[in-house]
Amino acid sequence: MQHVNQGLTVWLTGLSGAGKTTTAVALAAAMRDRGSRVECLDGDSLREKIGRELGFGREDRMENVRRAVYISEMLNRHGVTAIVSMISPYREMRAYARAVLPHFLEVYVSCPVEVCEQRDVKGLYAKARRGEIAHFTGISDGYEPPECPDMVIRTDTETVAGNVQRILDAPALRRFLPPW
Ligand code: ADP
Repeated sequence: MQHVNQGLTVWLTGLSGAGKTTTAVALAAAMRDRGSRVECLDGDSLREKIGRELGFGREDRMENVRRAVYISEMLNRHGVTAIVSMISPYREMRAYARAVLPHFLEVYVSCPVEVCEQRDVKGLYAKARRGEIAHFTGISDGYEPPECPDMVIRTDTETVAGNVQRILDAPALRRFLPPW
């Protein structure tokens, strides 16, 4: 297998609470164990650090995606793999990321909305149900599931470790792990 000396962007898309961040952190740890240089870019952290003015309308969500793509591109250029965890609910956004980034692996983190709502990690589903959050993906805003993602992982039936192993085993990712 030809090893690639550039970075890859692994793009985790899915509903809030689907398990994007949890999977991203575990994947990053596993890749670092194998000697890869990896950085995680999380949608919420990006908003907090460099997107405080952004809301959740379509254009603002797209702007957050553009920023993530820009940073990923720079990281990739220097051989660092970017693991992006963002709801990125519209196909147009993921198509943009795929078009810009030279090495791109789209992973659909699939989990029924009912399970995400039961988990309600941040209490946001309850707020959205009470009508306190406009544009909440899966409740008051749409999510367009990827039509042909590079991978689909399920978090309602599979474990974090199992999903991480599947991603690591994907030939498209293995090319980016150090050969030693
Ligand atoms: P997101 O980043 O998609 O909003 P989080 O990763 O923050 O989601 O939260 C997912 C929640 O679901 C966490 O509390 C996590 O422990 C839990 N969870 C249960 N099973 C899984 C699984 N198989 N994969 C990922 N997360 C899981």
